[in-house]
Amino acid sequence: MMTVTTAADLARALDQQLASANLTERLRIVAGLDGRAVFTTSLGIEDQVITAAIGLAGLPIDVFTLETGRLFKETVDLIAETEERFGIAIKRFYPKQDDIDAYASKYGLNGFYESVEARHACCHVRKLVPLAEALSGARFWITGLRRSQSGNRAATPFAEYDAERGLIKVNPLADWSLDDINTYVEAESVPTNPLHKRGYPSIGCEPCTRAIKPGEPERAGRWWWENDEKRECGLHVPEAATSLVPTPA
Ligand code: SF4
Repeated sequence: MMTVTTAADLARALDQQLASANLTERLRIVAGLDGRAVFTTSLGIEDQVITAAIGLAGLPIDVFTLETGRLFKETVDLIAETEERFGIAIKRFYPKQDDIDAYASKYGLNGFYESVEARHACCHVRKLVPLAEALSGARFWITGLRRSQSGNRAATPFAEYDAERGLIKVNPLADWSLDDINTYVEAESVPTNPLHKRGYPSIGCEPCTRAIKPGEPERAGRWWWENDEKRECGLHVPEAATSLVPTPA
């Protein structure tokens, strides 16, 4: 049996332990460890599956969302619908008005279309700063990342140590396919964003998300004007890394 001495050791041991468990067991294992476990949901279909599993099993995992102020109305409506369906509270974290004002005066409110730097700056203000607040004091951060979502996520482990944030990131859907997701949603009557049926498999802020065409990768509609397959918002790629990569996310 592995002797766990550091958070990195624990992450490695957890990664192995979670591999043979089902979704609810994976979440239950994490919830049973010492330290606060939090789940940040974007209300996307993967995150809805995790929220459902947490709610249906009554697990002591805090559920948060980043209310960026630029979400689709359908997404905002889904927050309340999900709370009611599973009897849970989803805590909203908002950007600071002073940060938004400073961004708007430097780049313009929609300056994110003009450059990668401006886009990262917007994601920083509206997502990364509120995320840091949401993760404060957490030891485990649960996400809905899946390996088959994009080439950038193909090596997603079940658990890994996030040295930049000083916590263990847990990805209980890492090995799930989109078919697995849809099967669970159907079986558990999980509420989902109506935009999924209109060609949006991945949904972020309204001005930065478009529907995809048949055959395009799932995340092709995110920041579609940027010419880089690795684009992310910085939530799941360290900011230091995104600032070095010309067209990140
Ligand atoms: S996704 Fe777009 S609107 Fe949302 S925070 Fe990032 S750049 Fe800003």
